[in-house]
Amino acid sequence: MPAARTDPYLLTPGPLTTSARTKEAMLHDWGSRDSRFIATNARVRRRLVAIAGAEGTHVCVPLQGSGTFVVEAALGTLIPRGGKALVLINGAYGKRMAKILEYLGRDHVSLETAEDTPASAADVDALLAGDADITHVLAVHCETTSGILNPIEAIAEAAAGHGRGLLIDAMSTFGAIPLDARKVPFDALMASANKCLEGVPGVGFAIVRRQALEAGAGNAHSLSLDLHDQWTAMEKTGQWRFTPPTHVIAALDAALDQFDAEGGVGGRNARYADNCRILVAGMRKMGFETLLADAVQAPIIVTFRTPADPGFDFQAFYDSLGRHGYVIYPGKLTVAESFRIGCIGHLGAAEMLGALEAVRAAITEMGVKDCAPAQT
Ligand SMILES: *Cc1c(COP(=O)(O)O)cnc(C)c1O
Repeated sequence: MPAARTDPYLLTPGPLTTSARTKEAMLHDWGSRDSRFIATNARVRRRLVAIAGAEGTHVCVPLQGSGTFVVEAALGTLIPRGGKALVLINGAYGKRMAKILEYLGRDHVSLETAEDTPASAADVDALLAGDADITHVLAVHCETTSGILNPIEAIAEAAAGHGRGLLIDAMSTFGAIPLDARKVPFDALMASANKCLEGVPGVGFAIVRRQALEAGAGNAHSLSLDLHDQWTAMEKTGQWRFTPPTHVIAALDAALDQFDAEGGVGGRNARYADNCRILVAGMRKMGFETLLADAVQAPIIVTFRTPADPGFDFQAFYDSLGRHGYVIYPGKLTVAESFRIGCIGHLGAAEMLGALEAVRAAITEMGVKDCAPAQT
């Protein structure tokens, strides 16, 4: 039975708790030219395009590494050297895209809102109207720093209205929050195996509009991060250019079987939304406050304000939850002291209720009477 019984549950932004079936899919060895592996790889790529509603318009290019690798590869391949990006920032992952552009030497401007405030499509529209040099808009779907959901449909409409490309960091939403290429125009979205698809870490992928990818030939600054070269080589031979993450792809294929059995994006969204509701209701009952208003909270990860009670100590809280079998995540906010608890991964109501019990035990151990944050 599942090894997960001895492993802690990961209530984090990733890597996440995976099922026994997903882990068991890795109990083989495949050579890079193994025909079974090549077939699995092709099937995974097709399935990922289908999840994005992008059959016929977009292609899937997988890339070894963590999610940031494929973000960097997509930016370097799709934004020409003479291009200019508008980066929408309300947390660490938007900032990371701006930092990548600095490394790449690509011209860019940013539009920053507070960590608890979604990007404004009206502001994007006005900025694009005033700056004809901007070729691409870069947005984060769910900014995992806080758990905030940005209005990607309206942002896409603004970008398309001005004829600019849109690149979406959909890392923490792909598979759990609908993003359909038939309804939301985008040049590329970037995601990874180990978030809402519940695969294991080691591969990212981009779903890229075919023409945008073709136009990206020769743009990349880096051989290993050249998505156009990765794509053309894989199309030609079915193989990866460099050592393929065989086990990660096999695990992703098994994870996608379970994703389909759960009802695809709709099914996964329903389970995560339940997890989020149980978590937020239980934490509020104990007196904790969420950073975000419910209307902008994605059912991915929830930021809680740190209690003002002097007995509360994050490290002691973290360690106590760990002893009870739950791993949470520190906050990453600049605006307030906080911590985060994730709703994603191979977890359901029982695990969320277990986590709440562990939180109750931890605050009792610390002698915390009041979980309300400092009033600002
Ligand atoms: C997880 C994540 C990434 C990628 O992070 P890695 O640590 O490189 O896997 C990028 N963007 C968002 C929004 C994320 O949640």
